[in-house]
Formats: sequence, C-alpha cells, structure tokens
Amino acid sequence: MQKNDLIDQILPDVLAWQREIHANPELGFEEHATSNLIAEKLAEFGLEVYRDVSATAVVGVLSAGSGDRKIMFRAELDALPVKEDTGLVHSSRVEGVMHACGHDAHSAMLLGAAKLLSQTREFDGTIYFVFQPAEEVLGGGKQLVADGLFKRFPAQSVFSQHSWPGLKEGSVIATSGPFMAAVDDFTLTFSGNGAHAAMPELGDDPVLASAEFISAVQRVVSRSVNPLEALVLSITQVHGGSINNIVPDRMELQGTARFFTPAFSDHVERQLHKIAGGIAQSHGVAYALDYRKGYPAVINTEGGAAAVRRAAGTFLPDDRIITNQPPTLGCEDFAFMLNAVGDGAHIWLGAGEVGPRAGLHGDQFVFNDKLFPLGLRLWQSLAGTLLPRGA
Ligand SMILES: [Zn+2]
Ligand SMILES: [Zn+2]
Repeated sequence: MQKNDLIDQILPDVLAWQREIHANPELGFEEHATSNLIAEKLAEFGLEVYRDVSATAVVGVLSAGSGDRKIMFRAELDALPVKEDTGLVHSSRVEGVMHACGHDAHSAMLLGAAKLLSQTREFDGTIYFVFQPAEEVLGGGKQLVADGLFKRFPAQSVFSQHSWPGLKEGSVIATSGPFMAAVDDFTLTFSGNGAHAAMPELGDDPVLASAEFISAVQRVVSRSVNPLEALVLSITQVHGGSINNIVPDRMELQGTARFFTPAFSDHVERQLHKIAGGIAQSHGVAYALDYRKGYPAVINTEGGAAAVRRAAGTFLPDDRIITNQPPTLGCEDFAFMLNAVGDGAHIWLGAGEVGPRAGLHGDQFVFNDKLFPLGLRLWQSLAGTLLPRGA
C-alpha cells in the first residue's frame, strides 16, 4: 500500500472513536450516545449535520467544487445482544451487548473518511455520509428509506463497506450481481375440528394436513423455479397438540425462504397459498398464511462494482481485488437503500481467517485493525473516482 500521510494522521482518531463506540455499544434504534458522538464530530469537520431524518440516524453532507453529482456512503450504528468474551481493554461496558459485527469500526472509518475528505476536498460534487440505526434484524435501513432519506438526500449511487472474516486479509471484494440473500419468513396454520384419537372420523385432522404440506412444499424449490437460480425453503417449527389421545384442532408451522432473485418473494408466497389451499380443501380444514417479506437481496450493480474495482485499483494490486466471490445466504438491510437508488455496491473487506467464535456475531469477534487504513483509503478513492474533478 502506498504511503498516505493524511491517512496516517487521521488513523489514531479513527482507532480512538472505534474503541469508544466499542466500549459503549447500543442496540438497534437505541444508538443515542453513538449518534451524538458522530454528529458532534461531523459538525466539528464542518459538514452540515441532520439528525431528524429517521430515529437515531445521522446524515452529514459535504460538498466540493461545483458539480451536481451526489453519492452516498453508509455505515451502521447498532450492536448485538451478545455477551463479549474478547478480553480486550476496550471490551463492552454494557452487559450482554457487543459490537460483534464490526459496526463500531465501520462507523469510525466512515467518520474518518468524512474528516479526510473535508480536509482534502479532492472531489467535485456532494457526498452524503449516512450512519444508520438498527441494521441487525430491525430494518433500520428500510425505515430510513420510508422516512424519505432519498427525497432529502437524492444520491445517484450508494455504497457501504463491511469487514468479512474468512476472506483474504486486506482484500476488497465487490462482485456485481447477487451478493447477499433475501430472507422471508412465514407462519402457516391449519385448523379444523379436533377429535378423540380413537374416533378420528369425528374430526378433520390438521396434523395430517401439516404432514402433507411439509412434503409438498419442497416442490416449490424442485419443480417451480429454474434449478440454476438458488432458492431454499425450510420448515423450521411445527407446533400442535397437547396429549396423545386427542387429535388437535390446530397446527402451526413456521419457516423461512432464502433467495437472490427478487421475483421469488412473491412467487414463494403465491405457491405457499396454492399448496396450503389445495391441501386444506382436500382435508376439509382451514388454513391461514402470514407471509412476511424480510430484507431483499443485495444485488450490486455492474456500474457500482466497476467503480469499486477502479477505486481499489488506484492503490491495491489486482490480486487483492476480488470480483468473482460467490454470494452468501447471509442478509443485509443495505439492500433497501441500494434498491431505492438503483446503483451502487455493498463492499466486503477481507479480514483473514479467524477462529470459530471470532466470526461475525461471535462473542470473540475482534475487528482486524489492519482494515482501518484500507477502508479509509477506499472511501477516499471512491469519492475521487465517482466524483472526479474537472470531469
Ligand atoms: Zn451483523
Ligand atoms: Zn453487520
């Protein structure tokens, strides 16, 4: 990596912010102290700061030159309900809450980038620095979009960085196309008349209907979608009954679907209705389906991934820029922002091999300090690449 004096100068600040946020983790939508710290620093760097956008979100705006192109960089604020067991001096001071996904470091790096770019101003246009609440499970990104993030801050493309243990240390990974999976959940109930187990003819038997559904539903994966497009459908909970001599009047099944093709969300929901409806009719029971659409898939755009490759290529050798990484079935609520804008990329920074409890969400997760200068340099270079001066 080339030497960059300004990054060396800013690095101690970034480390200090990350340590402070790490020691004081806050759960989704409760990130008040973290949000205060970030807003204070952004104001100190001379950015316009907005805190009335959505829940605890902070948006900093930095413009340079006269260009009207606008881009957005995003980091996350929230920690996880995990009891930290790292032994770090800056370990969590909050019992049972930990920055086990590296959001403390992502926020500190983005804050560092805001400081760096406010000093260099080596870009022509506007950068929105977005610090979002509640990435984990609660869909803070979805709420940000619903609360009008892009109406107030009309970015033309949006990017985020996330450390990724298990991939080559110090590498930048940005594959175009499907990158992280969409996740939907559902609850299905079959209900009818219960009966004495010895006189089943007096009831409807939702247990039998459930058994048939569990088998039949796999045809959605094996027979209703192109086998080259990934779809996983799993029934993960089955509840019903109270004693062994009564056929219950109600069974409840829960399950999840994971996929990359956006159209599969509606498709799976329709198929579940069709199969459950057919089975319910043939068994004389009623069914009710509660299908919940979760995070959509992260699908990096061609242009977004290419911009990351160009930006990383200004300071990294080719073997540290990975463009053919297979996608993961993990999910990311950055997908809501990416979908809303229609251009951009979610970027992984390879964190190298780690032990079994030190991966993302593990109680021994430790952010790899070597990634701080890499992430800072990448934000700096992306700003210059996407908003070139004299273009
Ligand atoms: Zn996470
Ligand atoms: Zn995360």
